[in-house]
Amino acid sequence: MIIGSHVQMKAPDFLAGSVKEALSYEANALMLYTGAPQNTKRRPLEEMKIDEAQKLMKENGIPMEHMIIHAPYLINPANSVKPEVSELATQFLTSEMQRTAAIGAKYIVLHPGSYTTTDLETGIRTIISCLNGLDIPEGIVICLETMAGKGSEVGFRFEHLAEIIAHMDHPEHFGVCLDTCHISDAGYDVSDFDSVLDEFDRVIGLDRLHIIHLNDSKNECGARKDRHANLGQGTIGFDTLCHIAHHPRTAHIPKILETPYIDGEPPYGREIRMLKEKVFEDMTKAQ
Ligand code: FE
Ligand code: FE
Ligand code: ZN
Repeated sequence: MIIGSHVQMKAPDFLAGSVKEALSYEANALMLYTGAPQNTKRRPLEEMKIDEAQKLMKENGIPMEHMIIHAPYLINPANSVKPEVSELATQFLTSEMQRTAAIGAKYIVLHPGSYTTTDLETGIRTIISCLNGLDIPEGIVICLETMAGKGSEVGFRFEHLAEIIAHMDHPEHFGVCLDTCHISDAGYDVSDFDSVLDEFDRVIGLDRLHIIHLNDSKNECGARKDRHANLGQGTIGFDTLCHIAHHPRTAHIPKILETPYIDGEPPYGREIRMLKEKVFEDMTKAQ
């Protein structure tokens, strides 16, 4: 099982600290933002302790493809109402991909965005032109994330992502990140994960699936809300999430937890252990 979580990247150890955090959870994968997710301020690469991070990855036998970058969520490539927003998306994504390449990572997760006051089809067209305007470095793959369909979000049907990828000038640079909370909120029944994978394969192609975000959901299937819950504390449930984590058809794909902190503490060490042992432990009770 390739399993990890969202980790922080902060002073003084930056990227090396991110790897250490992942190792403390006994993870063999990790995902991080290269700075604050809600803004575009970024540190110079020289300060990020990239060499030390790569050395730690190597010493622990974790391939660099298992270090995943998440683009900040303020990036909205679907916004055609304010041209400066999609312009910022193009600009920032270009620099973010250069950072991803410099770090030595391969996959960068991107939310397709929200169409705001226009409509779904316009949103999809806007995303296509934004992404086709990017100069993507060799070896970098942008993974479009499946979304819950909250507000005017694009990407709550596999068909949306398939349409975007079908229109890419360089489709080899694009893939998908499947978020279990988001697709459940979007109306897919994840308790029948084989059928979900069949549907994904039919619409997008399973060879495009590179990352799974493994989260429980606070809301019912189809609620289109996007509120993550700890494993076994939501409507998806531990058994289904554990089944997905160990599913043979996705064994080669990193699973990343983005579940909420409990009492200000990251739950990931315990959640990863629960998945490895296939035994549910009530996280809301004291250790
Ligand atoms: Fe995301
Ligand atoms: Fe996610
Ligand atoms: Zn989410």
